[in-house]
Amino acid sequence: MKNTLVSSIILISFVLNACRNQEAKLQKVQTNSQYEVNHSASTFSDSLKYPLNVILMIGDGMGLAQIYAAMTANKGNLHLQRCKYIGLSKTNSADDYITDSAAGATAFACGKKTKNGAIAVDTAGKPMPTLLEMAIKEGLATGLVTTCAITHATPASFIAHQPSRDMYEEIAADFLKVPIDLFIGGGIKHFKNRKDKRDLTVELAQKGYQIALSEQELQAFNTGKIAALLADEHIPSIGKGRNQNWLQNATKKAIQILSQNPEGFFLMIEGSQIDWGGHANDANYIIEETLDFDRAIGEVLNFADKTGNTLVIITADHETGGLTLNGGDLKTGEVHVAFTSHDHTAIPVPVFAYGVGAENFAGFYENTAIFTKILELLGLE
Ligand code: MG
Ligand code: ZN
Repeated sequence: MKNTLVSSIILISFVLNACRNQEAKLQKVQTNSQYEVNHSASTFSDSLKYPLNVILMIGDGMGLAQIYAAMTANKGNLHLQRCKYIGLSKTNSADDYITDSAAGATAFACGKKTKNGAIAVDTAGKPMPTLLEMAIKEGLATGLVTTCAITHATPASFIAHQPSRDMYEEIAADFLKVPIDLFIGGGIKHFKNRKDKRDLTVELAQKGYQIALSEQELQAFNTGKIAALLADEHIPSIGKGRNQNWLQNATKKAIQILSQNPEGFFLMIEGSQIDWGGHANDANYIIEETLDFDRAIGEVLNFADKTGNTLVIITADHETGGLTLNGGDLKTGEVHVAFTSHDHTAIPVPVFAYGVGAENFAGFYENTAIFTKILELLGLE
């Protein structure tokens, strides 16, 4: 009886998989947004062992196929290729072979695997200190930059502590409890249009934050604490209201503000919507968002080159879409892709490191090791 049941389940999943495979239609895409990459060797000194600044860049859902699709679209060039130290990160969460973005970001932020959906709390729901909070205690300046709502799972896991990623208003209120220097993203409605009638932008202003509600307002601030809430919910996708320099400009501003602190800084930058392109099985969406993220990477690597005291880590929380590349042309930038899922997948994701201490990121390790390595290199406890 048991064996029959088991073989029926295997047969059903075989049939289901066969159906899904037939659904995996080939998409041929080509984008128009090409740019130059300067591959000249970096100038930072190898003698420095510990960085002053750490910039962690998370491409949500950005697996190797997403990276190579974007690289092909840009005719074989990405800023990412300037990184010489590369590792692999195992992304499973505490309760699932396949992580979500909350557990994935919590692994980076707190160094512990937790349940899917949890924001910087352990499997029992207990808050865990985050890298960002620890950095503040040691006198570092801190910042979060994202292309989605600032209350969304990835940025939230560095500053909030909530049992569920869906508790946006509670997550927004947590921003008042941590003296972060700067955050740039969307999600204004979770700060202003709330069930408890609090206006968190007023409370942030009382705490000394300059509030920016547009890119122009953000760019006008040149020092001090900044809360930039630039969309009601998420920042629009590329070509649908967000220009190709949005993330690069936000990144530049964040670095300009945070680098004024002589004690150094910790900054997390997320390319949020690579994941949404994966969920939508939309290759063009993935490529545009990955190229956008890579332009921000170029900005960050230039800063690391210029200062010589910065560590940059570029990785993903997980892959999305089970993307594969069945063909393409590096001369024309055409890519032929197929998807095997509308969700996240279990495949390990690459970790690219650049600058002071980058060599520590070679190897095959758990996603939680990224936290441990940053903690040690920044000398935090
Ligand atoms: Mg995310
Ligand atoms: Zn996702």
